[in-house]
Amino acid sequence: MTDKQSAISLWDISAEEKKVDNPMDGDIQAEVAIVGGGFTGLSTALHLGEKGIEAHVLEAETIGHGGSGRNAGLLNAGVWLPPQDVRKELGEEPGKRLVQTLGEAPEYVFSLIEKHQIRCEATRHGTIHAAHAPKGFEDLRRRWEEWQRLGAPVDLLDRDQAAEKIGTKVFHGGLLDHRAGTINPMGYVRGLARAATAAGAKLHTGVRVTKLNREGSGADGGWRLETTRGTVTAKSVILGTNAYSDELWPGLKDTFTIIHYFQLATEPMGDRVEHILKERQGLWDTGSIMFSLRRDAFGRLIIGSMGRVHGGESGLSKRWAARRLRHLFPDLGEVTFEKAWHGQIAMTPDHIPRIHKLAEGLYTPIGYNGRGIAPGTIFGRAMAELLTGGSEDDLPLPITEPKKATSAPIMSRLYDAAFTANQVFKSL
Ligand SMILES: Cc1cc2nc3c(=O)[nH]c(=O)nc-3n(C[C@H](O)[C@H](O)[C@H](O)COP(=O)(O)OP(=O)(O)OC[C@H]3O[C@@H](n4cnc5c(N)ncnc54)[C@H](O)[C@@H]3O)c2cc1C
Repeated sequence: MTDKQSAISLWDISAEEKKVDNPMDGDIQAEVAIVGGGFTGLSTALHLGEKGIEAHVLEAETIGHGGSGRNAGLLNAGVWLPPQDVRKELGEEPGKRLVQTLGEAPEYVFSLIEKHQIRCEATRHGTIHAAHAPKGFEDLRRRWEEWQRLGAPVDLLDRDQAAEKIGTKVFHGGLLDHRAGTINPMGYVRGLARAATAAGAKLHTGVRVTKLNREGSGADGGWRLETTRGTVTAKSVILGTNAYSDELWPGLKDTFTIIHYFQLATEPMGDRVEHILKERQGLWDTGSIMFSLRRDAFGRLIIGSMGRVHGGESGLSKRWAARRLRHLFPDLGEVTFEKAWHGQIAMTPDHIPRIHKLAEGLYTPIGYNGRGIAPGTIFGRAMAELLTGGSEDDLPLPITEPKKATSAPIMSRLYDAAFTANQVFKSL
């Protein structure tokens, strides 16, 4: 078990699935090399393994070090935007395909959890998108109408129904999506790693890929990857580096804006929290500076919002969390926080994820806009299908060229400042 101080998140401490520690030993020749040991990379490796291809996953730190081991664990359907806006952005047919594929995606994730017996505290009671204000409720109604039209099992909750499920009257209603649920995300990503290994994939941790060189051309061409531990040659490469992309592929990390999201977990609180989200849904709200709340399997409350952790377990972020919980649940009393952490999210200008073809035999699914558990799993499966004879036309998203998001670094800094100011303001 990881000690509390060095753990990257609560999930790093509480996940039942074992940590993978597997240094690279000598140069490697592979059919497929995958950079990044998160949902995307490991799902690609698992699905390639099931098709008889031994992929090598190269992870700079540890499995789940990126967003996959730090997230809120809300296993949601669809993407950030409502379905009708996805179709507007992508065009009717591609939009429909993405909405349908990702609408069914939680079901697929639950099926993997079941098939590989992944120990990740999975619950299947849905998630609640809660209205922070009357205009938030109108947004939810619009989403609900469209999901209803598409036949999705979603309920619009009025104020009293939402209060009954959440345990506070603060929200103006909610959208309950029965397709969704919650997981321990580190448990899930480590479970994917275990399943991928069993399917024949080779995982290497603590190895950073520093250079990608194309060698040869056409069908005989391939890639030579320079790493901090040796060289890897591979016919094809998948980058699963997402919001944690470094300088490996020049310009890739300028295609999105990085925002941070922080969370704090209380100590297990037993009966004191039984009335909060009593059916065990996870929750996030419609506020422009989003807020999330859930319980874990051990009776902890996990509360989060946009921005970084300031002051560890005892500073500004802790004051923000304590005040927010007091506002929501005045009878809760004093709470003690056990762990605080944050992670990076890759936001694209239109809030739609991307699958880029960076060069021949080099692809990257990227820019999940804070919704990556199901998309990472599905896009990984799609990469495996593509590399085993599938067509680019059958991907969940049309392939695109990377495009610089104008002022991304400036926007990242501006958001950071705004989110910190929000924490200060809401802690007073
Ligand atoms: C705080 C937070 C809360 C979130 N909440 C949710 C949620 O509730 N629900 C949801 O669906 N999504 C959520 N997300 C989004 C989700 O976690 C991400 O979209 C998802 O984890 C992305 O997975 P990935 O495998 O593509 O990338 P990551 O998990 O970020 O993995 C990228 C990996 O690449 C490695 N890497 C980078 N460069 C190199 C290199 N050169 N060589 C080797 N390795 C490299 C990194 O070390 C990292 O481990 C949240 C994200 C954050 C940060």
